[in-house]
Amino acid sequence: MKFKNIKLLVRSFLTGYRGEWEDICHNCGACCYEKSEEKNGTIIIDFDSPCSYLDTYNHCCTIYTDRFKKCKQCSRLGIWHALYARWLPPDCGYVRKFRK
Ligand code: SF4
Ligand code: SF4
Repeated sequence: MKFKNIKLLVRSFLTGYRGEWEDICHNCGACCYEKSEEKNGTIIIDFDSPCSYLDTYNHCCTIYTDRFKKCKQCSRLGIWHALYARWLPPDCGYVRKFRK
């Protein structure tokens, strides 16, 4: 892990800031589709089954500021997800930034 990423990680823990953290997401929308796990542990993202709040044309959430209140499946993506969540695709901005 590069030094700048450790600094970003520590800052995210200590301050809970969202600005730079959210900028890491490049809005691909891949985390907003149904996911399943195969027997061998592989995570499959079903791109035919988007969250009902996802605008699949521009990959944006249509309820972004209220998403945790309105969508039961939606959870805040934090540093542990960035480091360990197997359902994030390899080209997710957080995966690329924190799992080098
Ligand atoms: S509610 Fe959550 S899972 Fe659904 S589109 Fe918005 S950010 Fe994605
Ligand atoms: S998969 Fe990663 S980069 Fe893509 S929308 Fe989700 S958090 Fe953002």
